[in-house]
Amino acid sequence: MQAPFTDPRSFKSAYKRFKFGIKKSAYMDLIQELKRDNSSLRQLADQEMSQQAGKSSFRRRPNFERVRSQATSLFTSLQRSLHITCQAPHEVNLCVPTPRSDQDVSFRLVLHHKTALASSWLYEEAEVRPMSSKPNLSVHGDGNTAGGKGSGTKSANRVTFAQSQTVATKTTRLAGIGSSAAEIHDLCGSISRFRSSRCETCLGVLTDPSRDLQHALFWPSAPVVDRTSSLGMLSLGELLSQQAGQSLSVAETKHLAVELSACVLRLYDTPWLSKQWGRNEITLFKRGNKILAEYPFISAKMVAVPALTGTSGHAYFQSGPAISNETVFALGILLIELCLRQPFDQLILPSERDPDGTKNEMSDYYAALRLLDQVDDTAGHRYGDAVRRCVRGHFEQRTTSLDNEAFRRAVYDGVVAEIQDDANQFFGRA
Ligand SMILES: [Zn+2]
Repeated sequence: MQAPFTDPRSFKSAYKRFKFGIKKSAYMDLIQELKRDNSSLRQLADQEMSQQAGKSSFRRRPNFERVRSQATSLFTSLQRSLHITCQAPHEVNLCVPTPRSDQDVSFRLVLHHKTALASSWLYEEAEVRPMSSKPNLSVHGDGNTAGGKGSGTKSANRVTFAQSQTVATKTTRLAGIGSSAAEIHDLCGSISRFRSSRCETCLGVLTDPSRDLQHALFWPSAPVVDRTSSLGMLSLGELLSQQAGQSLSVAETKHLAVELSACVLRLYDTPWLSKQWGRNEITLFKRGNKILAEYPFISAKMVAVPALTGTSGHAYFQSGPAISNETVFALGILLIELCLRQPFDQLILPSERDPDGTKNEMSDYYAALRLLDQVDDTAGHRYGDAVRRCVRGHFEQRTTSLDNEAFRRAVYDGVVAEIQDDANQFFGRA
């Protein structure tokens, strides 16, 4: 048997190995330490996130139900008045800009004749302000106006704005224009006449007798549609699938995520927003080459036969047992698309489909789950966690119906407010 270090070279080599062994063990200790530190950092970040979530529960939640009721009433009024003399289909695009207060709600409408027909107008934009048709009702905004639960004292001749902030000026303006504030019975026919009297006054009011609500139409003081160039109208679907010749910037996706998250609570379960809603029902306008991402419109088709009225009927995902609330899951898909800037269908792997390439009831859910890490890496944990809640449906509530107030509050706190905070952080407003 030979001693191990008779040869000086073998001793040197063994020493090097020994020295490396010591170095390696120190290196492994460092790695362990780094892992512990990373874990601590992650815990601290999580704690900060939960504290932020806690903060959002103290923030004032907007009165989305009031907006939702007014938007439903507006749809009924439009459906009632658009096809009196014109039987062509109309596309109606609705934008609900974030109001400065619950009493300052206004809608933006872009009406559009999709088909070339013998009409004097192709598209028209209007600002709509809901009003109570009852006297002195809800001037201070009690949230019951739209539901028609007021005193029952009716006065068809008197019109009062429901917005307390602007009530003085708007009422004066409305009262001052006399006959031009008359009720509009035939909207499509009237638009031609309105165009020749373009001014900053109320064009007239649409009435929804079922809710004691009226909707005053104004020419917008700051139009979204640029009338000096081509219409510049495109769907989010066209943008995501690169059919529009341009793509969204990160800032534009942040604006869209904020507005579309709030859209769920403003418009769920109304004719504007079915459970299957998504990129093809979202219309954007361009001013020059700039996409007006702060003003996404929800598009609905209105036809003379009401049974065919509503959104386009696109299917964005298959319903299945894993999806607890389809409207919220649809938002999750949309938020994934905005983050990864691709249509969701292109992100589903062949292994998540059936062998024949079709989707099954778990395909969309599994694909969305898989993409959550990618969303985290791309947009950060706050955005990622909001998407995670939409996809998994985890809101720590007994019910997952948006008809339930507690669930709506949880969706607001866990998704809408978080997406807003994420955007504030991105734009340096936090
Ligand atoms: Zn028409």
